[in-house]
Amino acid sequence: MLEIPVELGARRYVVSVGHGLAQQLPDLLAPFAGRRTVVVASRHVWKSHQKTLARSLRGLGQLHTCLVPDGERFKNRSTLEAVYDAFLKAQLGRDGLVVAVGGGVVGDLAGFAAASWMRGVDWVVVPTTLLAMVDSSIGGKVAINHARAKNMIGAFHQPRAVVIDPAFLATLPLREFRSGSYEILKCAVLGDDALFARLLRAPKGLSGWPRPEVDNAIATACRIKAEVVERDERDSSLRYVLNLGHTIGHALETVTGYRRFTHGEAVGWGLIGASSIARQRGLLPESSYAAIASAVDHVGPRPRISDLKPGRMIEAISHDKKAHAGRVPFVLPTAIGRVIVQDDVTRAEITRALRVMAGREALAS
Ligand code: NAD
Repeated sequence: MLEIPVELGARRYVVSVGHGLAQQLPDLLAPFAGRRTVVVASRHVWKSHQKTLARSLRGLGQLHTCLVPDGERFKNRSTLEAVYDAFLKAQLGRDGLVVAVGGGVVGDLAGFAAASWMRGVDWVVVPTTLLAMVDSSIGGKVAINHARAKNMIGAFHQPRAVVIDPAFLATLPLREFRSGSYEILKCAVLGDDALFARLLRAPKGLSGWPRPEVDNAIATACRIKAEVVERDERDSSLRYVLNLGHTIGHALETVTGYRRFTHGEAVGWGLIGASSIARQRGLLPESSYAAIASAVDHVGPRPRISDLKPGRMIEAISHDKKAHAGRVPFVLPTAIGRVIVQDDVTRAEITRALRVMAGREALAS
């Protein structure tokens, strides 16, 4: 088992990574034993992994289970209501514990429920998608969606522990596995050229990527995320680098109503877009641009973008949550493993990046 601490003073916690850890929850969560506990789990994941999970979680003590539907459209107020109802039924008090089991949707939802219940109860995360393992379960950002805006209702509420068992990935569909891999690639581009090289050594499309290599990539990405979070817990400056690929990625998700792309696929496209802008500005060498674009393709195919109108994309980008005084900060790679943030990217540069991404224009060096 690998242990990655997230050093946040009184809110310090450890991310444990290892095969079979889901069967060792009573040991890993021993400091919380005996507390009234509500497990908020994805209905879908529970069905596939009930035997392991139920047996292991029983060891925690007095336990209540709240199964929730999966999917971005359920990360909303009505599912949150159902979770609050379960908390009430379980008489979950301030000294209780919430255990979130599922992908990023369930983690964000259960985490927000824990953050807001009685002004905050402790929670731990057992992520079951690759994306949740390497990204959403670390850092304490929790939220639900407003009908017209993603993640609009949220809080910062650090978990007390994160337990990553890559064995869950055995049932994860390949498309969802790739989705998390684009986030691993993002981590590599923003801070780790060795991780970038390791991803390129994986089989194209990532089917059959050897287990130790996957575990290694998960641990490295977790470490990168933990380091950034430690330096900027509340997302005020440095943490912004984690948004690499997300400015265009979020806009792609918005203009397609969250139906066409997985989050990671949108980020994959966004990585190419950000690299293209960096290239246009002369910040990124041609060879590095080509390496990033081909690494994105190496992870896997993504739904098309050629039919999307640049005007709508630019409109969606201008509503980015991080915009200040009408300026949208972009994270731009300057090398494999290095990024900078610039907030003076023009409409023309974005339009050109979208044309390059859609294959309508070549990026002359
Ligand atoms: P998800 O939670 O919707 O899960 C994707 C699908 O995988 C679902 O259908 C789910 O049922 C299924 N699934 C989960 N685990 C499985 C398993 N082990 N085997 C088989 N199927 C399984 O999607 P996601 O990609 O994990 O998370 C996306 C969400 O994460 C978005 O809502 C995004 O906003 C959020 N997010 C949050 C942060 C953060 O910092 N809080 C960061 C990134 C993303």
